[in-house]
Amino acid sequence: MTDTFKKPNAPWPLRLAIGFLSLLLTLFFIWLLSFMLNDIGDLPGPDYNAIQKRHVPEEKLNEANDLATQLVGVEKRIKRQEEIQGTLQQSMRNAETALTKIADLQRLSIEGGGKPSEVDRQAMENARSRFYTAQDEYESANETITTLNDERHQIKQSIASIDAELRQFKNKSQAEYNDARRSHDLKIASLKLVFVVPLLLLAAWLVKKKRGSIYQPFNWAALVATFWMVWLVMWDYFPRDFFKYVAILAAIGILGAFLTWAIRSSARPRKATLLKRHREAYQNHRCPACDFPILRGAFQQAVWTKRGPKLHGEAPSQTESSRYTCPSCGEALFDQCGDCGEVTQTLLPYCSACGRES
Ligand SMILES: [Zn+2]
Ligand SMILES: [Zn+2]
Repeated sequence: MTDTFKKPNAPWPLRLAIGFLSLLLTLFFIWLLSFMLNDIGDLPGPDYNAIQKRHVPEEKLNEANDLATQLVGVEKRIKRQEEIQGTLQQSMRNAETALTKIADLQRLSIEGGGKPSEVDRQAMENARSRFYTAQDEYESANETITTLNDERHQIKQSIASIDAELRQFKNKSQAEYNDARRSHDLKIASLKLVFVVPLLLLAAWLVKKKRGSIYQPFNWAALVATFWMVWLVMWDYFPRDFFKYVAILAAIGILGAFLTWAIRSSARPRKATLLKRHREAYQNHRCPACDFPILRGAFQQAVWTKRGPKLHGEAPSQTESSRYTCPSCGEALFDQCGDCGEVTQTLLPYCSACGRES
C-alpha cells in the first residue's frame, strides 16, 4: 500500500512516449480484433433465392413467363395491324385523289362535247376498285385489332391474378428469409461476444490484478480495445431500443467505477496524513490520539516543556519492553506484535522488532 505513495515519476518526454505507444498499441489491438470479428461475421447467412424456390411453385412461375411472352406477341400483332392500317389509309387517299382527277378530266371532255374515252373509263374503274378494296381491308384490320385488344385484355387479367398469387408466395418467402436473417444475426452476435467478452474480462482482471505493475499500459490497452469491440458488436447487432438500456447501464457502471476510484484515492491521502501525524506524535513522545505525554520508561519522571520532555540526570539506557496504554484516552499505544511477541508501536504500520506489516 505504502509504495503507491512514492512512485517515482519518469521524465515527461518518456512518459509522453509511453502514453503515445500505449495509444498506438490500443489501436492495433482494436485493428486485430476487428479482423477476427469480421471473419466471424463472414459466415454464410440464409440464401433468399433458395428460400424463394422452396415457396414459389415452378409451374406458376412458368405460367407467368408464358403469359408475359403472349402479351408481348399480341402487342406486336396489334402494332403490325396499325401499321397496315396506316398504309391502307395512304392508298385510300391516293385512290380518292385519282378519282377526283379522272372525274375532272371526264367532265371537261363532256363539256367539250366529246365522249369520255375508254382509257379514262377504265382508269376510273380501277381507281374505284382500289379504293373499295383498301376500305374493306382497313375495316378487316379494324376487326383484327378489336379481337387482339380483347385477347390482350384477357392476358392482362390473367397476369394480374397470377401476380397476386405470386406476391403471396413471395411475401411468405420474404417473411421466412427475414426470420432466418434475424436468427443468423443473433448467432453471429453471440459468437462475436463469446469471442470478445472473455478477452474483456481477462483484460479487466489483469488491470485489477497487476495494479502498480510497470507493464500496466499493456493491460489497459487490451482493456480499452476489448471494451470498444464489445461496444461495437452490441451497437451493430442489438436492437436500438434494447441497446439504449445496455448503453445507460454500461455508462452507469463506468461512472460508478470512476467514482469509487475517486473516492478511494481521495481517502488515501488522509491515510498518509494520519500516518504522518502518528509518526510525529511517537517521535515527540505524545499520544497520537489525544496529545497527552507518553509517560513510559525513562520518560516517567521527565518534565514536559513546550519543546518536549526534559530528562533528569542520566539518559535513558534501558529499553522499555512493557505494554503501554494512554492514561488520558485509553488508546493502546504500545502492544505485543502478533508475529514476534515483542512490544511495538501499535499505531505505526510496521513492527519495530520483526518488520511485519500490521
Ligand atoms: Zn491518549
Ligand atoms: Zn514483530
